[in-house]
Amino acid sequence: MPASAPLHFDGSFADWKRVARAALASGVAPQQAHWRDAGAAQIELALDAPAPERIVPLADPDLAAPSPRVPRAFLDLAEDVARHRDPARWPLLYRALWRLTHGEPHLLANPADVDTHALHTLAKAVHRDIHKMRAFVRFRERATEAGPWFVAWFEPQHHIVEANAPFFRDRFASLRWSILTPGRCVHWDPDSRSLRFTPGASRADAPADDAAEDLWRTYYASIFNPARVKVDAMLAEMPRHYWKNLPEAALIPRLLAEAAPRVQRMVARSAEQSAAAAPTPGELEGRARPPATGDLAILAEAAASCHACPLWRAATCTVFGEGPREACIVLVGEQPGDHEDRVGKPFVGPAGRLLDRALAAAGIERSACYVTNAVKHFKWEPRGKRRLHATPNAREIAACRPWLEAELAAIRPGLIVCLGATAAQSVLGHALRVTEERGKKLPGPFGASALITVHPSALLRLPAGIEAEAEFQRFVADLRQIREVPDARPSEQLPGSPPAST
Ligand code: SF4
Repeated sequence: MPASAPLHFDGSFADWKRVARAALASGVAPQQAHWRDAGAAQIELALDAPAPERIVPLADPDLAAPSPRVPRAFLDLAEDVARHRDPARWPLLYRALWRLTHGEPHLLANPADVDTHALHTLAKAVHRDIHKMRAFVRFRERATEAGPWFVAWFEPQHHIVEANAPFFRDRFASLRWSILTPGRCVHWDPDSRSLRFTPGASRADAPADDAAEDLWRTYYASIFNPARVKVDAMLAEMPRHYWKNLPEAALIPRLLAEAAPRVQRMVARSAEQSAAAAPTPGELEGRARPPATGDLAILAEAAASCHACPLWRAATCTVFGEGPREACIVLVGEQPGDHEDRVGKPFVGPAGRLLDRALAAAGIERSACYVTNAVKHFKWEPRGKRRLHATPNAREIAACRPWLEAELAAIRPGLIVCLGATAAQSVLGHALRVTEERGKKLPGPFGASALITVHPSALLRLPAGIEAEAEFQRFVADLRQIREVPDARPSEQLPGSPPAST
């Protein structure tokens, strides 16, 4: 009959390592080990072991027993596995440790091994839960005497609060926040710049709602595109387990029920519009042809009658760039919005006001910059009485690019600020991921640098609160780089350029 070794530890990975080291030093085989987690119910884990006949004496775990040599990859994997809720993780980890140190040093290289497979399965579930927490935590604002305090309630499936805390600390470093969960809570105070962990809380400890949530639900309903609904993919990405804490989730059943009839109406309307639209010669050519001049006024006048792609049909007017010709900085957005389309000027709607606020916070005068868009006509689709923004496609961006090139050639800026992916694609001539290149200065056309950042409308889509404020501060930090640009611009001028003012 095998002897038994009750292995008491406090339920943490650090303490498990300490006790596992002592068990290894005492020669306790996996089938003898009875892991007793003080943080959970006393569970008999060595289910395959009969009642013990005698107890294996353990080496003192606090004495510095020599550490077993295991691959670094095992320790990283084990730390992830330890965050899983399954109580069988502890004997599994010890069995893997035992095998690694008893003649199977390459255990982890065999994905077909039962233990290796089980370790990776548990770690994968933990990674997924970490990702879901980052996606589905929703902060609600509480007013306190010390200022706003953002509190979120979340129900993780595994022990991931500590692992995720640095992510939220870095993202919301300037704000006071707490994330409450049933097992563990984390709090950040920007004044003391410290993370604090406390025991679990209940749902009632977190605010149920805040003033911004009605606004967020209205916005979510307005951007819900019934033509793009894939219910299976949506449920895989946003499991129902998380719905109860998402303010927008209450809308989803109704939006899904209305999706099919709305798509039918969209298809019918689109068929009517296509029948009415015979392409112009300019559309057939598919590329704008600006006059060869550096005079911005002449360029703007010519662009007003451009028909090089179908976007002119549904728009009110061409919205050309605006600002001093001697500007060292050119800000490039995606396309005019509803407001700009009516007024005929770039960045004068809600996104423009946010841009103005961010430029002011970064210490930059907008009037010293030239502001324009990659695409000069407003692309939209109807939603009731409203005109909703639609993203220009690659052909429309390419068709309009000669206008942007003509503006840049006339101005010759030192820095081009690309606000969003469409702007970056048009300026650089190729697509890129803004999330990967954000804040970087890349080589741009005409010897200028191209600074990559987000479009201000992306910030408008965030629900008011902690995330919106943190993202605004990130945007301001990106724009501060404008101040590093020397005032002088390349002296080279295009033939036919007018004197430097418009
Ligand atoms: S979007 Fe650009 S290319 Fe298309 S019609 Fe308007 S100005 Fe011309």
